[in-house]
Amino acid sequence: MGEFTLELNEDQKQVRDWLHGFAADVMRPAAAEWDEREETPWPIIQEAAKLGIYSLDFYAQQFFDPTGLGIPMVMEELFWGDAGIALSIVGTGLAAVGVLANGTEEQIGTWVPQMYGDANDVKVAAFCSSEPDAGSDVASMRTRAVYDEAKDEWILNGTKTWATNGGIANVHVVVAVVDPGLGSKGHASFIVPPHTPGLSQGQKFQKHGIRASHTAEVVLEDVRVPGSCLLGGKDKLDERLARAREKAKSGERVKNAAMATFEASRPAVGAMAVGTARAAYEVALDYAKTRVQFGRPIIENQGVAFQLADMATQIDAARLLVWRASWMATAGKPFTAAEGSMSKLYASEVAKKVTAQAIQILGGNGYTREYPVERMHRDAAIYTIFEGTSEIQRMVISRALAK
Ligand SMILES: Cc1cc2nc3c(=O)[nH]c(=O)nc-3n(C[C@H](O)[C@H](O)[C@H](O)COP(=O)(O)OP(=O)(O)OC[C@H]3O[C@@H](n4cnc5c(N)ncnc54)[C@H](O)[C@@H]3O)c2cc1C
Repeated sequence: MGEFTLELNEDQKQVRDWLHGFAADVMRPAAAEWDEREETPWPIIQEAAKLGIYSLDFYAQQFFDPTGLGIPMVMEELFWGDAGIALSIVGTGLAAVGVLANGTEEQIGTWVPQMYGDANDVKVAAFCSSEPDAGSDVASMRTRAVYDEAKDEWILNGTKTWATNGGIANVHVVVAVVDPGLGSKGHASFIVPPHTPGLSQGQKFQKHGIRASHTAEVVLEDVRVPGSCLLGGKDKLDERLARAREKAKSGERVKNAAMATFEASRPAVGAMAVGTARAAYEVALDYAKTRVQFGRPIIENQGVAFQLADMATQIDAARLLVWRASWMATAGKPFTAAEGSMSKLYASEVAKKVTAQAIQILGGNGYTREYPVERMHRDAAIYTIFEGTSEIQRMVISRALAK
């Protein structure tokens, strides 16, 4: 564990080729249709589940990723296939990782399988942190969790927004305030089990891109969950809160725990961006070799060829930053220079830029829905926004530099 290598091992190569086949044969042909429908592609998730691809991102993290390159590889291939469909496939993993990070063994064993369902009856899960007035500023979250000691139950009230799979999930992971005086140190995560009264879907959003992924508000009105649904358990929470209160009293800066968790998951988002960027680059490269203007393929113009050279270089650089950060996270090396944020910042900005260049290289065709690059450009815009905007990544990086 922890050896740094840029070589995928034989198992990883096999998995990559298998995923590439699924992405090319199943996801790609369906991408335009689900983008237009703006609905969760249940049949494709079902097919992914039958093949063992649904939940692979989650289990890869735990079982077969000694070098840290496995997760980025899974993400890159699926998002190369199609970003919206891929987010429908890995969105559950984001919620499952929330349970893995904070839950007890028993909670992980109970809830993760219910998040995915089984191959004949697939389910999805949602991770609900963002609120209308608390996006980047996680500490200003207002959703409240109050403990009812007599019944050993927690009562949740509030409104979450932009939740991937929100309202259609079998299991929701909800972050809520348990001690309003402690900023994000006073937050805790809760499981809301299937069919719990009081949880409902609010507005379903129509989006610019990744339209095959469901995004919605989640409304929580006197939602009662058993004490066992507090991730990590009550004793651990009480200890954590007591420590945070001590620190707050002594004037020590209370570190944002949620920020640290996001930092670790950021290389995975960087890998998604690399997948979309590579997909658009490949379309542009093929097009430039075959489109003839002024009697020769347009790639023979330096103005076009140099753009492709920059695109290829930037995609490679993004992948290397992602792989380094993912290796560091797997090897337990702390991101002292905010390497996780660097990988997400760079890869997401590259995806936006490269997909725009791809449209330019395809000219009029690039601008129409006859070709996939306009969709890829719409999809790419999400990477600089979710899991921490580019500005927040720069903030994290500059703070690390200033230390
Ligand atoms: C498709 C989609 C899926 C999502 N999925 C989920 C999900 O599953 N679960 C979930 O909890 N959330 C989810 N989100 C929410 C997402 O994480 C937030 O949108 C994101 O964190 C930004 O928050 P915000 O939209 O409130 O923007 P704001 O925080 O309001 O930011 C607006 C602008 O101001 C800038 N800004 C803010 N503060 C600063 C600062 N201090 N310095 C400089 N610039 C600043 C931002 O960079 C941005 O450009 C999703 C969002 C989308 C669009």
